[in-house]
Amino acid sequence: MAAAFLVADSDRLSLGMEVQHKPSKEYLEDLSHGNLDGFPDFLTERSSDIVDLLLDHNRISIIPKLIGNFTNLVLLDVSFNSLRYISSEIVRLEHLQMLHARNNLLDDDSLPKDMGLMKSLQVINLSGNAFSEFPMQLTEMTALKCLQLGANNIVHIPPEIANLKRLEVLYLGGNKLTELPEEVGCLSNLVSLYLCDNQLLSLPRSMVGLQHLRSLSLHNNHISTLPPEIVKLNLVELSLRNNPLVVRFVQDMVLDPPSLLELAGRVIKVKNIKYEPNSLPSNLIDYLDSAQHCVNPKCKGVFFTSRVEHVKFVDFCGKYRLPLLEYLCSSRCKTSPLIYGSSESESEEELPVVSKMRKVLLG
Ligand SMILES: [Zn+2]
Repeated sequence: MAAAFLVADSDRLSLGMEVQHKPSKEYLEDLSHGNLDGFPDFLTERSSDIVDLLLDHNRISIIPKLIGNFTNLVLLDVSFNSLRYISSEIVRLEHLQMLHARNNLLDDDSLPKDMGLMKSLQVINLSGNAFSEFPMQLTEMTALKCLQLGANNIVHIPPEIANLKRLEVLYLGGNKLTELPEEVGCLSNLVSLYLCDNQLLSLPRSMVGLQHLRSLSLHNNHISTLPPEIVKLNLVELSLRNNPLVVRFVQDMVLDPPSLLELAGRVIKVKNIKYEPNSLPSNLIDYLDSAQHCVNPKCKGVFFTSRVEHVKFVDFCGKYRLPLLEYLCSSRCKTSPLIYGSSESESEEELPVVSKMRKVLLG
């Protein structure tokens, strides 16, 4: 097969990612939209000749053992069927690069346990199925460039996702995620990350490690603020609509008064009172050393555990104003007119918040 570096059939393309495979008519078997309820017998006669096998839009419920005879398969499309089970013989397909099985009935028991042995797979699409757990086998497929698991019921992403170092596209939209592991920040080749339509409350700070990320989709989540590190990314696309962002954050703000320990510690740091390791218990030394500076450049204050969360808007790529979470030493400490703290929630102060929000939400 000529190794023409062309883009595959646009319908099977994965979110704009280029796949180095050109379907050739000679080796293509297109049985899509065929009303089939299984693999037809005539296929088995020439199974080892077929490179691209299209069985999408049928009524097939299992991928049978004979799939193991299709030893030269590069692309298999079984999307839009009634698949509940994939036979473990699929692991024998050493050349398979693309597996499309979206919109089926696959669940946590449907994939072969040793599917992680399929080291040639670069694209796998399992969107629109019934997974409630992230299939751990996928974390062993180290050649994966594009992984789509949208529209399932997944609640948790395992830290082992960090194994997928070559991943460029990760689609997790339409699941039930409330958080992401810090290890997402290890996916250093990621270009597009889709997290829309989940229940995410925040993002890990490690995302600053995604230096190739260009598109980040976060709409329809429960995110109230973003980690300040996000401004270091070179995003060209960012969707934030339908997140509570600043509005809910400001309303929910509660200030706990600082403890006596905190107040005493602040005086020691601000007045620069000297202390020696042998003059104080080690836990107090550690405590004093954990002091953080107030982000207000006009304030010399420090804080320990009692801090005031506030939101700072930052220009981002010249297109957005992002609400970032930072900390001040007290509720009376303000940095600039762009800061919207708890004490300024008068009605005339809320107007500028709303106008900034529109830029973020709709930008
Ligand atoms: Zn301060």
